[in-house]
Amino acid sequence: MTDFSYAVDADGVATITWDTVGKSMNVMSQPAFELLSDLVDKGLADETVKGLIITSGKKDFAAGMDLNVIANMKAAGGDNPAKSVFEGVMGMHAVMRKIERAGMDPKTLKGGKPIVAALPGTALGIGLEIPLCCHRIIAADNPRAKIGLPEIMVGIFPGAGGTTRLTRKMGAMMAAPYLLEGKLSTPKAAKAGGLIDEVVAPQDLQARAKEWVLGAKDADLVKPWDAKGYKMPGGAPYHPAGFMTFVGASAMVHGKTMGVYPAAKALLSAVYEGALVPFDTALRIEARWFTNLLLNPSSSAMIRSLFINKEALEKGAVRPAQPDQTVKKVGIIGAGMMGAGIAYVSANAGIEVVLIDAKQEAADKGKTYSEAILDKGISRKKVTAEKKADVLARITATTEYAALAGCDLIVEAVFEDMAIKAEVTAKVEAVVGPDCIFATNTSTLPITDLARASARPEQFVGIHFFSPVDKMLLVEIIRGKATGDRAVAKALDYVRQIRKTPIVVNDARFFYANRCIIPYINEGIRMLAEGVEPVLIENAAKLVGMPLGPLQLVDETSIDLGVKIARATRLAMGDAYPDGAVDAVLFAMADHGRLGKKANAGFYSYDEAGKRQGLWDGLAAAWPVATEQPELTEVQHRLLMAQVLEAVRALEEGVLMDIREGDVGAILGWGFAPWSGGPLSWLDMIGAARAVAICDALTTTYGARFTAPALLRDLAEKGDDFYSRFGSAATKAA
Ligand code: NAD
Repeated sequence: MTDFSYAVDADGVATITWDTVGKSMNVMSQPAFELLSDLVDKGLADETVKGLIITSGKKDFAAGMDLNVIANMKAAGGDNPAKSVFEGVMGMHAVMRKIERAGMDPKTLKGGKPIVAALPGTALGIGLEIPLCCHRIIAADNPRAKIGLPEIMVGIFPGAGGTTRLTRKMGAMMAAPYLLEGKLSTPKAAKAGGLIDEVVAPQDLQARAKEWVLGAKDADLVKPWDAKGYKMPGGAPYHPAGFMTFVGASAMVHGKTMGVYPAAKALLSAVYEGALVPFDTALRIEARWFTNLLLNPSSSAMIRSLFINKEALEKGAVRPAQPDQTVKKVGIIGAGMMGAGIAYVSANAGIEVVLIDAKQEAADKGKTYSEAILDKGISRKKVTAEKKADVLARITATTEYAALAGCDLIVEAVFEDMAIKAEVTAKVEAVVGPDCIFATNTSTLPITDLARASARPEQFVGIHFFSPVDKMLLVEIIRGKATGDRAVAKALDYVRQIRKTPIVVNDARFFYANRCIIPYINEGIRMLAEGVEPVLIENAAKLVGMPLGPLQLVDETSIDLGVKIARATRLAMGDAYPDGAVDAVLFAMADHGRLGKKANAGFYSYDEAGKRQGLWDGLAAAWPVATEQPELTEVQHRLLMAQVLEAVRALEEGVLMDIREGDVGAILGWGFAPWSGGPLSWLDMIGAARAVAICDALTTTYGARFTAPALLRDLAEKGDDFYSRFGSAATKAA
């Protein structure tokens, strides 16, 4: 498999074309990088070659680095992974620097060969770091292309010179959104921001690149940072203007990350320290911080969950071996909040949709939801009028079940009521073909029970979406007792079509995500009732990387939903129901009419426009704050363990069948502290023995809900961890 080809034309311009055989997108591997280096050597050494173009044979340039390369660098280091990673990264720097210098005399800066990057489309990560060391970056005017450095999104930072070069090219202030937020731009926006040098019509790309190569002078090849008297745009950190940038950036990073993401801190350090020294030393500093980061357990865990395992699940790692089950026509029953969202994501993915509700107005209203999202897209120039028309044309809103004929998948999203769902199941099965798969979007009712209403329980499955459907990335697929492999494969193929991430779990109360998030909310509420300062509860959660504190989360999901779930759970569990203290708070809030954000009143106060203000000042009167407050760490342990122990129990009970799904599902489903890589990764990070000790202490003070599950105790006793015991080679830490 070759990744790069090389050809020299009659005018002496060599073109290195990146076109990985058998892949739709170029991704950099170790052998590919070595080949690129060899081809650059070849072009520089050949006296007949005047200059080089680095481009792609695909519609895009590159998606970035295969992060397994990093994992391999680490593994290759044996007892000294830091040395191996540092040397590997410095080796990459040497190649990139070779491209940048292009054979010029480092003193006179003369005699180099021009090297231009010609980008037909998307250029991400190393796919932009390579262009950044070329002498000019020319991109095709392709509005679908994305250009940027998204590394920070998976817990690392651009470590192949991108951090140092971008800061020196644009200045720290302008580079900050690209480096710290992983901002991606279209070619035109990238040119306007100074990220790339030129945008041309797609058909002119290669000719313009060649023209530039043939016309380039010695001075055109010298990067500003290699020229005498270089000053960083916007000022270096010790310059008054630059100083302000760094103070601001540092505060912003801490505000956003709460100090729990090591990547942002390491990036800022590399930028700050690198700005004080000459370029080659700055690259060395960048490499040291990058190595430091890669050896941080948080970045390994984030890469493992958010990149490697997320992608593996999306590519069907847990899909039963079944023929292709691509969905052509989906019937959605219930056009309420969920049904409307499911209709939109399906039609948007090119699937024909029949959207059914009991009344025509309700069905139409469900379709209008898609229209509203598409209109918003048009106003943001993300959607064309043509695309809107296409998507809407795929949705038939009706009350007629007969319209479901020909559907190969049904997603039921009617009221959460066993009898109504059973009736709908029978009505649907009377009109669809015998191969049609029936999925329910229930959040609380057991799939196995619902399947009793079906004449084909092996074709009955749970497909549990999260709200809002168009934004949430996770979909839980639930296997009932009778669910067959084809139904699971169908659900997985459908989730792939709508470009979300699936996890497959067995049927049990609240499945996986809700099972873990409810105890988190409950623990927060319990603390409030105990007299813990509500600000402490909320901040403790955020300082441990949860996107929302438990009280804010209840406000967002609504207090009456909490009341409803509490009543139903109490009914189902009878005397074993453990959450009386929580219910007392929820019911009191409901009595005060404080139903959450939607009522503009909940645990927080809201202004008339619905903007969240501070915590409600009536809280202290209802639940007086105790004079003695717990330590921050103790509050954090309670909030984390409430979720994490449920994840362990779900694994122990066989609800979770794959630990990758436990971690990926937690981050994407309810935003579980992403820096940790997920609940099971977090337990591995602190070690099972310490986790058991924390559980024992919490059990003594707060009760049996913190009892360490037998599986966790066993890991602690044997000195084992989750990923060693349950992870296949592919799922071990990067
Ligand atoms: P909703 O009340 O907004 O919508 C339900 C829709 O179903 C209504 O439009 C109603 O008219 C329609 N309907 C009721 N009976 C019908 C029938 N016999 N035939 C056709 N249409 C009928 O509810 P929702 O929030 O969209 O929830 C729907 C389902 O999704 C429930 O099972 C719920 O548990 C589940 N769910 C909800 C969420 C959430 O956050 N709201 C998340 C995941 C799953």
